[in-house]
Amino acid sequence: MSTPNEYITSYDPTWCPGCGNFGLWGALKKTLAEIDIPHEQLMAVYGIGCSGNGFSFTKLNAFHGLHGRALPVAEGLKLANHKLTVIALGGDGDGYGEGGNHFLHACRANHDIAYFVHNNQIYGLTTGQTSPTSEEGIKSKSNPSGGVDQPINPVALAITAGATFVARGFTGDINHLSELMKAAIKHKGFALLDILQPCFTFNKHNTYQYFRQRIYKPEGHNPADIQKALSLAWQWEREDKIPLGIIYQATNRLAFHENFPQITKQPLKEQAFNLDISSDLKSFV
Ligand code: SF4
Repeated sequence: MSTPNEYITSYDPTWCPGCGNFGLWGALKKTLAEIDIPHEQLMAVYGIGCSGNGFSFTKLNAFHGLHGRALPVAEGLKLANHKLTVIALGGDGDGYGEGGNHFLHACRANHDIAYFVHNNQIYGLTTGQTSPTSEEGIKSKSNPSGGVDQPINPVALAITAGATFVARGFTGDINHLSELMKAAIKHKGFALLDILQPCFTFNKHNTYQYFRQRIYKPEGHNPADIQKALSLAWQWEREDKIPLGIIYQATNRLAFHENFPQITKQPLKEQAFNLDISSDLKSFV
């Protein structure tokens, strides 16, 4: 059994004081200690942003990817060695903006990856521009008169795109968030955990207080009920109430890699590489 402190590097976090990333990081370390997967069997992929800076502070086998490209790297890792537990982490701009297309297709393919999105509803690292989840009318450096686009609803989007695990957590409730992280990692298939992560510095609207006035944990919800799940997914927009927890979960689909007997028998990286393409190349000459 490891301890959360075993996942800390010698670098001090550079996040602003009060940033929601501290709570998320606390939940992540607690989760890693409690699931107790050996270091060599777990791989994390980080996107770019304040979220991605966690790469430097967290002692994990990890890859710091390009902006918006955490998911394709994570998918490649899983296909090369499906014995690995693969986690991807990124922000709302990274995952739902630059990486929006990758996000949609990871959901529908049902890649066996746990995706933790630090959703602070703003571009934080670039000092406060409107992101895909910024609320309509919010003023920012990129929209000084207020954004006119309707924000993306990641929970509804993931359910309708085919993700088999969709949950929402809050960085102000570390124990609950950690339970959701563990459930996402244990789930076989694509697991979105959208995490409400206040950006103390650049988002003065979606604050801890804003969330504490709206969040709740629905009692008796059956995550297998997709109609009810979709109703909960839209509750923030419709009723100004924000349900937390596992909103949707399906267990009747194969994960992407399980569809291919060529790799399910033995991970690709353990197979001999005997591919001779010289004759194919000659046909082009
Ligand atoms: Fe956190 Fe926002 Fe500061 Fe980034 S800019 S570290 S998200 S408070």
